[in-house]
Amino acid sequence: MLQDKDRIFTNIYGMHDRSLAGAKQRGHWDGTKDLIGLGRDKIVEIMKASGLRGRGGAGFPTGLKWSFMPKESDGRPAYLVVNADESEPGTCKDREIMRNDPHTLIEGCLIASFAMNANACYIYIRGEYIREREALQAAIDEAYEDGLLGKDAAKSGWDFDLYLAHGAGAYICGEETALLESLEGRKGMPRMKPPFPAGAGLYGCPTTVNNVESIAVVPTILRRGAEWFAGFGRPNNAGTKLFAISGHVNQPCVVEEAMSISFEELIETHCGGIRGGWDNLKAVIPGGSSVPCVRGENMRDAIMDFDYLRNDLQSGLGTAAVIVMDNSTDMIKAIWRLAAFYKHESCGQCTPCREGTGWMMRVMERLVKGEAQVEEIDMLFDVTKQVEGHTICALGDAAAWPIQGLIRNFRDEIEDRIRVKRGGTVEIAAE
Ligand code: SF4
Repeated sequence: MLQDKDRIFTNIYGMHDRSLAGAKQRGHWDGTKDLIGLGRDKIVEIMKASGLRGRGGAGFPTGLKWSFMPKESDGRPAYLVVNADESEPGTCKDREIMRNDPHTLIEGCLIASFAMNANACYIYIRGEYIREREALQAAIDEAYEDGLLGKDAAKSGWDFDLYLAHGAGAYICGEETALLESLEGRKGMPRMKPPFPAGAGLYGCPTTVNNVESIAVVPTILRRGAEWFAGFGRPNNAGTKLFAISGHVNQPCVVEEAMSISFEELIETHCGGIRGGWDNLKAVIPGGSSVPCVRGENMRDAIMDFDYLRNDLQSGLGTAAVIVMDNSTDMIKAIWRLAAFYKHESCGQCTPCREGTGWMMRVMERLVKGEAQVEEIDMLFDVTKQVEGHTICALGDAAAWPIQGLIRNFRDEIEDRIRVKRGGTVEIAAE
């Protein structure tokens, strides 16, 4: 179990003073000027050595991403954009940072922007996060008043402005290029890549888009050292991580833990166990709604990190939003609900996603009722494969994967329902 002294987020539950004074007391904004004094190359080098992988879902190495930004300006400004859209069902970790520990993020924005030669940073916050926006804006105002932002920010010699932009609640604006479109005042529709944002992002200028948690951990990594951070978790899966556990556990929570903790330890230590005991565990979606579900019996010993969940369980860590489902869950209906969500949130720009998400949802609707042919299960799987990887952005994949996970893991349940509906019984079907 992660010890309190190793927690980066010391006020994630809002039990202590959230103001700047409180944040300073807990060690934030301590020697920020000296951290900036390390210089750009050194900061990027430390971030690479720490092994931090992006906390927004894709897990791309953060330091490497920063190094894609141009070293010298060609006359265009550079920007850091923080993705605070957090709209993936099940994911609720960044909101705790923004409303309870906002100065970790603000200090991180200053240092990360400096490292990428950006004098301005935009935080794009999800439309539904009203209280979080208020808390974050209040913290930004405090930081300006204290000279930590603005001209000669934190007496570092670096001029830096931080803006908070409020979205309107569309899931697709969490996709980095749709987010940039929305920031520019247009409809949140993903752009074709290339060009990638590091070459032409916000207003056509070099831009890096990072998740809230990825930026909020930066100051502590620099203060405590890359080795300290890399000391948690397995190789290639370093650091501490916020896990958001919801569903059928006794105490759902958001908790910072060491990466690569076992699923059983995570649930027993922080969530009071599975509702009704481990034998009652049916399925887990380990990384936010877009990753495939896993059967309960395969999860108990699972290692909660990027590589294990992908390579051994054909799922993913994603945002580490762990959705736990016990035996009372109708798995087919649960995945249909996700299919309906992705259909609703598709921006409609490309055909496989626009048509495919609706088609998949309608077949799922019939599977929920058992009103389908058994052969349609394979057809549905085929269609998910035709959508996956054939769209402009990752929403197509996000819509396909939950259905693939359902068919891979709970095909028996789907077939049973079809047979029962057609007048047979499960036992007869099994003969
Ligand atoms: Fe829009 Fe879907 Fe295409 Fe993404 S995959 S650009 S959401 S239509």
